[in-house]
Amino acid sequence: MSMNVAIDGPAGAGKSTIAKAVAAKLGYIYVDTGAMYRAIALYLLNHNISSSDEKSIEAVLDDINVEIVYENQAQQVILNGENVSKEIRKEEVGNMASATSVYGCVRSKLLSLQRDLAAKSDVIMDGRDIGTCVLPNAQVKVYLTASVDCRADRRYKELVEKGENPNLEDIKKDISERDYRDMHRDIAPLKQADDAILVDSSDMTIEEVVVAIVDLCK
Ligand code: C5P
Repeated sequence: MSMNVAIDGPAGAGKSTIAKAVAAKLGYIYVDTGAMYRAIALYLLNHNISSSDEKSIEAVLDDINVEIVYENQAQQVILNGENVSKEIRKEEVGNMASATSVYGCVRSKLLSLQRDLAAKSDVIMDGRDIGTCVLPNAQVKVYLTASVDCRADRRYKELVEKGENPNLEDIKKDISERDYRDMHRDIAPLKQADDAILVDSSDMTIEEVVVAIVDLCK
């Protein structure tokens, strides 16, 4: 049986950075499920489909093919044959992903892809509903969080490093709205699984969190 590690938590808690580092240390495959929701969101944005138009979204889902491939152990997201790994990182795409991940049709499309990846390999999978819904039998479950201020500061610094000119208050507002939506949707809302270990990274370095999770896996 493959080893499955689930890392859930709100936007900007450091899930992907930490999951990537843990995967590299343990030789597991890292699966970023948010990237899959972002790929669908990008398709919808490119086709001018509104996030509130569930009927139209459901109608085009069969036209959307999301694949996950690995290049030098880095996850690449392929949307209808095109590598969109960079494009899906835009704030606009993240907000669209959050708004459209509330729909059951969108979630069920990605669920089997996520479960197939976890059945085939040792994975560390990050998202919002991995421990509660996608991989309820994962051997290790972590709920990784940090305060809104701390997450907004980190995001602000990331954007500045990329050469952008972000506004801290806008980032805080975006993060709070995204948290609220992810935690209050009807289907697979973000919450700590009963058997997940809570890790608050507000006052921890990345290395400290990585070591803590590697220890849990061992
Ligand atoms: O993690 P990331 O910010 O890339 O995810 C984008 C959005 O996709 C989240 O705000 C969330 O609404 C949605 N998502 C989800 N379930 C997951 C992963 C992401 O609903 N397992």
